[in-house]
Amino acid sequence: MDNLLADADSCVKCGLCLPTCPTYGKTQNENESPRGRIALIQGYASGQLTDTTAVRAHIDNCLLCRECERICPALVPYSRLIDNFRTHFQAENKPSLAFTILEKISHSKTARRLAQSSLRLYQTTGLQKTARTLKLPELLHLDKMDRLLTDYVEPTVLKDYYSATTACKGTVGLFVGCMGQLLDAETVNAAISVLTAVGFNVIVPNQQTCCGALALHSGDKTTADSLANINTQAFEGQELTSIITIASGCGSQLQEYAHREFADKVMDISQFLSGFALRTLLDLQPLAASTCLHTPCSLKNVMRAEQGALQLLQQIPELSIQKLPDTIVCCGSAGSYMLEHSEMAEALLTDVVNAASITQARYLVSSNIGCALHIAAGLKERGITMEVVHPVVLIARHINKAKKVM
Ligand code: SF4
Ligand code: SF4
Repeated sequence: MDNLLADADSCVKCGLCLPTCPTYGKTQNENESPRGRIALIQGYASGQLTDTTAVRAHIDNCLLCRECERICPALVPYSRLIDNFRTHFQAENKPSLAFTILEKISHSKTARRLAQSSLRLYQTTGLQKTARTLKLPELLHLDKMDRLLTDYVEPTVLKDYYSATTACKGTVGLFVGCMGQLLDAETVNAAISVLTAVGFNVIVPNQQTCCGALALHSGDKTTADSLANINTQAFEGQELTSIITIASGCGSQLQEYAHREFADKVMDISQFLSGFALRTLLDLQPLAASTCLHTPCSLKNVMRAEQGALQLLQQIPELSIQKLPDTIVCCGSAGSYMLEHSEMAEALLTDVVNAASITQARYLVSSNIGCALHIAAGLKERGITMEVVHPVVLIARHINKAKKVM
């Protein structure tokens, strides 16, 4: 309680964070702003607010986009404050069925294997179509999850080691996390393909697991710490130049692990690759198309690596790039937020989709799988044909064929 109060007391109530906060922007309610939430936590921690139901609801409505933290002049450790507050109430959580399923799939390899075969059955046999016609996902309160499913792709079985295919520059670790292989196999394959073609050996330890963000942000610090230990051990004992992440939501969590030797090596793949002259090294083929660049808040506000994706895409000849306006802070996906706070998630998504549709781009590029799935669902529901891809996928698709390995 003392730590909670000390962190909350560092806020000087200047209000600079208010205009940047997506939930305040949509509600104009002080309780839905960073300053308001901090004041509520102060009230709770100092014993002045005893009815915690409303306080918890306002804290739970926070997306943890951390835009407020990035601009705060008093350096209030906002994310730590919210996570610690939620930890106080973890035992009282009543998770939805969708959250429980997501948690199981994220934390258990067995559940992931089961999910893989269930998805194959659900999506390739006509079951999904029938279930949707009968509105079964709505009846089971799983429609917010069902809408995120992309067309089924059989994932490649990953090896734990890939050799550089050109003069070797070193060895990197690849963090694929819990959802990469299940829902975004093309990005995983693209990352291996590009990294090896640039000249890096890539290790993909089989023991790696979920980054722990889902657990931490729902107040389960014990599980988050245990997942962090598994991941640090999985990459231990290797001479790694960097540990590369392909989803900024995971990357931001890994960079904040207490194990600093591990955390300091974590780097977003676009930032890592933007340091190399890919156009020449990979003989990148032209792509005469336009792309709309979405910057996930985890990439901007936590990893502080927002320039990487832009610099990476600029290496593809003839590609025209339009960034989404800076006024768009968060798309509303925010881990499991889109499943449990669908109204706010939908309102924020609408802003992204509207801005993206104005660009009339062929692609929307995003560096975080959660955002990509949420935005892709929003585009599809509005009948907008725009392919949502990770930046490294566009690079991999335009490597001169003679240099490809996957
Ligand atoms: S969180 Fe930071 S920016 Fe917001 S009111 Fe407090 S001190 Fe000011
Ligand atoms: S983390 Fe994002 S949603 Fe939460 S208070 Fe800060 S700016 Fe608002």
